[in-house]
Amino acid sequence: MNATTPCYYECGICNHYHPANWDGDCRDDENRLTFDQIEAKHGPDGWDEVPMPDTGEPIIGKGFFHSVGRPGNKSPRSNCR
Ligand SMILES: [Zn+2]
Repeated sequence: MNATTPCYYECGICNHYHPANWDGDCRDDENRLTFDQIEAKHGPDGWDEVPMPDTGEPIIGKGFFHSVGRPGNKSPRSNCR
């Protein structure tokens, strides 16, 4: 891996890939790619897969869905679908 190689991680929530430096909502289509989409974009050797960030925390509480963790929100996922 080097600074010019795009990096993606496989998301444990949506089973798609997100750019390694991206942190947001899984439904952000611009930043949710399939393996095939990445390979079409960068070629088989043009990108690196990296571990999902912040692996020390439970996936469910990581905030990939908006509004998770907002103070006072007792049902943080209630408006996610
Ligand atoms: Zn995701």
